[in-house]
Amino acid sequence: MAISNNIRAGRHFLQIPGPTNVPDRVLRAMDYPTMDHRGPDFADLGLRVLDRIKLIFKTSEPVIIFPASGTGAWEAAIVNTLSAGDKILMFETGHFSTLWYDIADKFKLKIDFVKGDWRTGVDPNIVEQKLKEDKDNTIKAVCVVHNETSTGVTSRIGEIRKAMDNTNHPALLFVDTISSLGSIDYKHEEWKVDVTVGGSQKGLLLPPGLSFNAISSKAIEAYKVSDLPKSYWDWEPMLENNKKGYFPYTPATNLLYGLDEAINMLTEEGLENVFARHKRFAEATRIAVNSWGLEILCKNPSEYSDSLTAVLVPDGHDADFLRKTILDNYNMSLGTGLAKVAGKVFRIGHLGDFNELMLAGTLAGVEMGLMKSKIPYQKGGILKALEYLC
Ligand SMILES: *Cc1c(COP(=O)(O)O)cnc(C)c1O
Repeated sequence: MAISNNIRAGRHFLQIPGPTNVPDRVLRAMDYPTMDHRGPDFADLGLRVLDRIKLIFKTSEPVIIFPASGTGAWEAAIVNTLSAGDKILMFETGHFSTLWYDIADKFKLKIDFVKGDWRTGVDPNIVEQKLKEDKDNTIKAVCVVHNETSTGVTSRIGEIRKAMDNTNHPALLFVDTISSLGSIDYKHEEWKVDVTVGGSQKGLLLPPGLSFNAISSKAIEAYKVSDLPKSYWDWEPMLENNKKGYFPYTPATNLLYGLDEAINMLTEEGLENVFARHKRFAEATRIAVNSWGLEILCKNPSEYSDSLTAVLVPDGHDADFLRKTILDNYNMSLGTGLAKVAGKVFRIGHLGDFNELMLAGTLAGVEMGLMKSKIPYQKGGILKALEYLC
C-alpha cells in the first residue's frame, strides 16, 4: 500500500491515543472469509462475542454492538433513553465531552453544561450539588467522559456514582469509555452506570468500526418512555435479534472475528494485569515528561490518565511543529492538540497492544524530536523512565 513517496525502512510508530496498534493475532483473526450473517455459523460467533464482551465492561447486563464509530454510540445513548426537551447534566472536560454536548444539543435537549478548564475531570461534589438543587428531579441524565482523550484526564466514576447515590436523585448515568475500556479499570454494573459508551479502536485492540452501548435495566425502562426518533440506533430490534446471536442489519462481520480474538487476548493476560501494565507505562511516561522539565496538562495527580499523556510545550513553541519533526524524521505519529489546546499540547498514546520496548522507542522518539526542533528541555528523561521500568 503506497501511503507516501518516502520509502521508509522499519515500522511506523502509531502512538496517537487511538486508533492504536492492532496486534497480529487480531489481524490474523480478521483475515477469514466473510460469512452469511443470517446463516447458522454466524449465530455461534454472535452469541459468543455478545456474551463475552460483558466481561470487558464488567457487567451481566446486555451490551449492544453497532457497526459504527464511537460517535454513533454517543447518539444511541441519547436517542434510546431521552425525550424532546429533557434536561441533562454534562461537563466540559475537553474536546470529546464538547462533541457529545453538540449531539445532545442537536436533539434539542436542555443541557446544563458545566464549564471546565480542560485540565481537570468531573468534580463529584458538583454532581452532588447540582442534583441536590434539582428538587423536582428534572435532570434525566448525567453524562461523563471517563477518560478525556483530548486532555489525558480521567474522571473518577466510582466517586461520581457515590455522589449521585448521596442525593437519591433518579437521574440516569451515562459514561463514555471509548479511550478507557480495556486500559483503565471500569465497572459498569458495580458503578450502576445506565449506558456505557465504548469504541473498538483504542484499548480494545481493534481497528475502528465497532461501538458499544452497555445498558442497565433502568436504561431499558427509560427506553420505554423515550420519544426521541431512533431508527439505526434503536435498541429494541438489536436486543431482539441478539437473543439468537443475530443482528437486525449487516454487522461488521470481520471486526467481530477480531473482537472475539481481542477478548481472548485481554482475558488471557487478565484484565487486572492489563490495567496494571497501563498504569506502569503511564507512570514511566510521566517520569520522562517531568524530567524533561515539561508540564503535564492534567493538573490533579489522582486524575492522571493511564492511556495517554498530554504534554504542554513551553510558551512560544508549537506542539504541531514538534509532532511534524518527529513524524518526518523518526516515523512516529503523536496525537495533536485538539480545539482549545491546538498547538499547545501533544499527546503520547500508551495504550492497547504495547510493551516496555515500544514505550522506550516512543519516549526516545519524543526526546529526539525535542532535541531536533530545539525546544528547551532537560536531557535524560528516557533514562529516568527506563530506571523506573527496571
Ligand atoms: C475517540 C473518542 C471518541 C470519538 O470516537 P469516534 O470513534 O472517533 O467516533 C469519543 N469519546 C472519546 C473519549 C474518545 O476518545
